[in-house]
Amino acid sequence: MAKPTEAKQNETLYHTIPLSELTQTLKTNPTSGLSETEVQSRLSTYGKNQLKGETRKSIFRLFIAQLQDALIYVLFAAVIITVFMGEYIDGIIITAVILINATLGVVQEVRAGNAIEALRKMASPRALVRRDGQVKEVNSEDIVPGDIVVLDAGRYIPADLRLVEAVNLQIDESALTGESVAVTKEADATFTEEYIPLGDRTNLAYMSTLVTYGRGTGVVTGTGLQTEVGKIANILSQDDETKTPLEIRLNQLGKTLGKAALAICVLIFVISFFQGRDLAEMFLTSVSLAVAAIPEGLAAIVAVVLSIGVTKMAKQNAIIKRLPAVETLGSVNIVCSDKTGTLTQNKMTVQEFFNFTDKHKKVSESTDLSVDGILLSEAMVLSSDATLENDEGTGDPTEIALLQLADDLKIDRKTLLAEAPRIDERAFDSDRKMMSTFHQQNGQYVVYTKGAIDRLILKCKYVLEDGEIIPMTETHKKLISDAADTMSNKALRTLAAAYKPMDKQIPAEHFEKDLVMIGVVGMIDPPREEVKDAISIAKEAGITTVMITGDHKNTALAIAKELGIASDLSEATSGAAINHMTQAELESHIQEYKVFARVSPEHKVNIVKAFKSKGNIVSMTGDGVNDAPSLNAADIGVAMGIEGTDVAKNASDMILADDNFSTIISAIEQGRNIYNNIKKSVIFLLACNVGEVITMLIAIIAGLPVPLIATQLLWINLVTDTLPAVALGMDPGNPDVMKEKPRTTNENFFSHGAGKRVILAGTFIGILTIVAFAAGYYIHGYSPFANTIPEEVHEYARTLAFLTIIACQLLYSFSFRHEYKSIFKIGFFSNVYLFGAVLIGFGLQFLVLYIPFMAEAFKLQALGVKEWGLVMSLSLSLLLGDEIIKLVIRRGK
Ligand code: ADP
Ligand code: MG
Repeated sequence: MAKPTEAKQNETLYHTIPLSELTQTLKTNPTSGLSETEVQSRLSTYGKNQLKGETRKSIFRLFIAQLQDALIYVLFAAVIITVFMGEYIDGIIITAVILINATLGVVQEVRAGNAIEALRKMASPRALVRRDGQVKEVNSEDIVPGDIVVLDAGRYIPADLRLVEAVNLQIDESALTGESVAVTKEADATFTEEYIPLGDRTNLAYMSTLVTYGRGTGVVTGTGLQTEVGKIANILSQDDETKTPLEIRLNQLGKTLGKAALAICVLIFVISFFQGRDLAEMFLTSVSLAVAAIPEGLAAIVAVVLSIGVTKMAKQNAIIKRLPAVETLGSVNIVCSDKTGTLTQNKMTVQEFFNFTDKHKKVSESTDLSVDGILLSEAMVLSSDATLENDEGTGDPTEIALLQLADDLKIDRKTLLAEAPRIDERAFDSDRKMMSTFHQQNGQYVVYTKGAIDRLILKCKYVLEDGEIIPMTETHKKLISDAADTMSNKALRTLAAAYKPMDKQIPAEHFEKDLVMIGVVGMIDPPREEVKDAISIAKEAGITTVMITGDHKNTALAIAKELGIASDLSEATSGAAINHMTQAELESHIQEYKVFARVSPEHKVNIVKAFKSKGNIVSMTGDGVNDAPSLNAADIGVAMGIEGTDVAKNASDMILADDNFSTIISAIEQGRNIYNNIKKSVIFLLACNVGEVITMLIAIIAGLPVPLIATQLLWINLVTDTLPAVALGMDPGNPDVMKEKPRTTNENFFSHGAGKRVILAGTFIGILTIVAFAAGYYIHGYSPFANTIPEEVHEYARTLAFLTIIACQLLYSFSFRHEYKSIFKIGFFSNVYLFGAVLIGFGLQFLVLYIPFMAEAFKLQALGVKEWGLVMSLSLSLLLGDEIIKLVIRRGK
């Protein structure tokens, strides 16, 4: 990537301008921000904050693309020849059918594109801004110069900023500068030198870079293409049009089958040549057959079915970010899930606590607390970032629970916070599993630290007992860890607090040592109601649920037992245990574990890899800044929509809008259904095409007259390849789909008898059509092999063949809804789209048949009740025959 080091002459050098001057020029106020009305007017002046314009292809270009096919060219050439021979009507019809087909193709493509675009919007980053004096979350696209942006760890910087405030703020600017070491930012740094490298302008932050640590605020100096990243040309030319593996495979399949169809068409033409048939007519017929039979639309149908499917999934809170994930979802057999917030409700309440003076107590029973008890609660309040006002909490639910505890214990939080202002801090991270704040209190300085008991105890040298700081003994250690064990065995989440009074200010690296242990609290976080069912559904579907958590092992196991994830201690392990294993050892034991406690983000990567090494298809959840590697390593990376950071969302394949575990399981169900629906559509399409080819092939080889002429073939293709195929793709989910084992990833599209179905169904359609065709001659007293047959009789017989093949295809579409279940059991109306498509299909036949000029154009004859009876009984016999085959299959099971 280009490394922009020197500023251009015409550029505003925001790093050298004093902040107050800058906010004046930008007409903004860092404490209240812009007003919404001002934002609207700036949006129309500066445009949206985006790097690329709408790069969608025009409808016209899509339309032309539909026609760019060698066969279509040949067909057009053939049309021109027919027109020269005086067959105007045929020429017009063929052209019209081709154009209609192309139009339908464009409609499908645009709709699929719109659906994917809508998804992309849903997954696009949002940013925190201060407007009208309030902090709100908005789409990053809607940010304007002058906006005040609030930054925290895990968020992408939405635009170019001049920093107003930076607390331990570190930013990974590799996206812009290629430099992978995070840059520490300083809001009050001043520069006089104008042309210094971008990375050295530490009072600025740039669009598309990432906050890795700390927090801050900044005022927007540039948006969209006016940003540093916007100036780098190569980012603009990114092309993100992706095809899923299934689309690619089907495209290849389509090509192979297309060649086979083409070969057969050539064969038909050659045979006709030797039989001395009318060559011009046979040429047109063969080309039309090729156009009808070559399954060029396979990938298109996949795109349509996928887009319908993912739209539906998004409504149910599973936002698919990468389309291929839909296919992989159906194969997932291990779901690794975070505990807190995903399996549990993340609505925490402190129930019990322990300190060396009050000992173990329930919150509800603690009326007269010792000063040590009060300090425990105060420490928790001071070292929290959450807020709680009038029962409205913001921030980490764990911390909100701690504020609630203080309220329950009648501690005046406002006064406390006013008397002990925070002057420094060391943020929470899931590796240390603790956080510290530094306060000025009663004329001295105090560190308050809260975190996981087993980690915090290692940082403590003293304990607080009866208001005295005394050295920590083994007895103390045992007392407090016993108390924590008792709580965590009851599924309570534990959190310990410690402090350290100081007479001078110290740097943040020295906060977490020689601390004084105060005590520990235990809070419940009830499991989500629906999760237990979801886990048992998953179990039946051959999917193992695995809990991954930073929490204490006992707490994790207790909740895992409650939810049916694990039943025994031997199924739980911890990050510390993993540290003592080699990756090979972890791999050999991985299948024994269902609960991984006290793990750090890097353990998650090892866990995913170990599961994958055993041939599992693994989904992994994540929300934090450090979860990107494990989300990438998993087959399906799942990010939390609410609690998740931009980094996690960016690395994921799917986002859970509700952070709920059950959504993963229903997404897997949807994934399976979508795959099955794609399969139904494709198999139906192929069966229809095979039917057309076989009809023509049998007739020509047998020396019969041509059963379907060019225009009729194209019409058949138009009626059956479009609506019914898409409608099959919209089939409602099969209720038994979660009673089956996951599909193996290398499963052939034509396994489970699907290939046989295509051949069998196609052959039957072909035979029945020929039967109807031949019957047409015999009804009029002619043998189809006779030398002189009046043209009306040919037309009559062809009309019967034409109707029979369409009726067969339309009615038969119902049977593709299930591999072996009877359609009478599934019901004709349970997929209204398909029922409607079949109805429309028959309606169209009435139109061509009974509107005189249409009938004439397609060379059809109006048929009576007797003929319809023949057509319907032939096509229904196909459906009934299929029912018998299904019956046999069911018996076999
Ligand atoms: P999980 O989300 O799986 O429960 P976390 O990484 O959030 O895991 O938490 C791991 C441990 O870190 C918790 O068991 C708790 O002891 C501690 N912890 C969690 N949140 C905080 C916090 N806000 N401040 C201090 N410690 C915390
Ligand atoms: Mg957490």
